[in-house]
Amino acid sequence: MWLHARRSWNVSANKSRILNKQFSRLGILFVISAPSGAGKTTLVDALKQTGEFVYSVSCTTRPPREGEIEGVDYFFLSNAQFVERMNAGEFLEYAQVHGHYYGTWRDNVVSNLKDGRDVLIDIDTQGAANVRTYQDEFIRQALADVFIMPPNLEELRRRLTKRGTETTEEIERRLGRAGQEMKRWKDYRYTIISRSSEEDLQKFRHIVEAERYLSRRLIEN
Ligand code: 5GP
Repeated sequence: MWLHARRSWNVSANKSRILNKQFSRLGILFVISAPSGAGKTTLVDALKQTGEFVYSVSCTTRPPREGEIEGVDYFFLSNAQFVERMNAGEFLEYAQVHGHYYGTWRDNVVSNLKDGRDVLIDIDTQGAANVRTYQDEFIRQALADVFIMPPNLEELRRRLTKRGTETTEEIERRLGRAGQEMKRWKDYRYTIISRSSEEDLQKFRHIVEAERYLSRRLIEN
């Protein structure tokens, strides 16, 4: 199992990003999780704008919110379409969140990582747990998981109310779930305690830099 994974890691080396004559590296799979309202969307939007990451657009059975665009925010699927893909093993991970399915398409993620591109996925804590224990060593090696911790539940309530996209009932439901998710921070390699969006971005960038220097990500050409 290990030998096989090691072999596929090396085989992909010739495709990966060339750093100089001697070294290249495979892509990093950055997983971001945070309770809704923790500032993750702002952070993810800022990271998308850097052009340094391939953002993996998830599939969901949740109906689109106003302003959301098919193929940009999500691929919006019916329950039947989602289950069909799930049964065909097309997802790297999937989970049920707030009563809807959410999942990450595997092939696109894997091919980008093998080409040396860093991939960003925004998934819940169950999804992150599934990636951490994913069967393929290649994925586990690529993973760098980051939890965005809201300062406290009151601040989260304030942010969710200000956002104004959910009903009071939905806000309470999300806060209940946020409390549960916040207990999972220790499972992540990194935790950013959310402050201003600028600070969060700066901290995330430090993590990215460090991850890119990890010896085990380098391949000798
Ligand atoms: P929202 O409906 O607010 O866009 O997202 C709700 C939750 O679903 C968020 O915590 C978000 O991170 C999570 N989510 C979005 N896409 C995926 C995915 O592909 N897989 C998993 N497991 N969670 C996802």
